[in-house]
Amino acid sequence: MTESHLRADIVEVGRRLYARGYTASNDGNISVRLGSDRLLMTPANVCKGFMNDQMMVITDLDGNKISGERKPSSEMQMHLEVYRQRPEIQAVVHAHPPVATAFAVAGIPLDRAVLAEVVTTLGSVPIAEYATPSTKELPEAVRKYVKAHDGMLLANHGALTLGSDVYSAYYKMETIEHFANISFVARMLGGERLLSREEVIRLQGLRGRYGIAAPAPICAEPDGETLAQDCQVVFAPPSIGGERLVPDRFSGVGADEEIRLTYRELTALIEDAVKNLK
Ligand SMILES: [Zn+2]
Repeated sequence: MTESHLRADIVEVGRRLYARGYTASNDGNISVRLGSDRLLMTPANVCKGFMNDQMMVITDLDGNKISGERKPSSEMQMHLEVYRQRPEIQAVVHAHPPVATAFAVAGIPLDRAVLAEVVTTLGSVPIAEYATPSTKELPEAVRKYVKAHDGMLLANHGALTLGSDVYSAYYKMETIEHFANISFVARMLGGERLLSREEVIRLQGLRGRYGIAAPAPICAEPDGETLAQDCQVVFAPPSIGGERLVPDRFSGVGADEEIRLTYRELTALIEDAVKNLK
């Protein structure tokens, strides 16, 4: 891939991000590897929907500018961190797609086993802890998740995706926003019915067959926070005797949490229980 092709691809991906409303104003940034020791990056203070291929900045892997008239993206440090941690990654996309960003604002990770395709490709989409944009803290927050994930939310900020080329990173951004939209509507409709743990393991087995190079395996039985660095934590209930068991933590109500019922709901519950006894 020549440098002029890469510049054209960044322009095109910037247009798509802006056209789909994944960025507003000058938000977002895109970078690709240019050979082994340089990066081609979007400039600061430019709307990603209206770039031309001469606007890009070339930097080394420490972020020193090599060429280009403009300043590199203010989130350059976050991109550099990704390239340092993941030598195989060729491109990084950062945007603020509204529904996924709303999950990031609400503090709700996209880590439930809901859509087979998302489980197979991304595994889970965790939330990197909040850090002030364009400071050193943001790459530090991202570092924890970047080894095991190709896509993540950034708390109270947006989303970050990585890929083997700029289109692959962009499509992961689309997948995350699509997944967020579906998850949101499903919750409005009463909540997602999760895939079983066994199904998640089966889906993981398909990765090899479809040539999906996931950075880490899925762990469907998470215990503790440290796992997020080594595997993709996907919440999926075990199935017993073909029945999907849905423990409290998957239903959205904790075992000791207080819930309120109307008199009519309570009566209906008691009537049901009595009926089952008969
Ligand atoms: Zn941002």
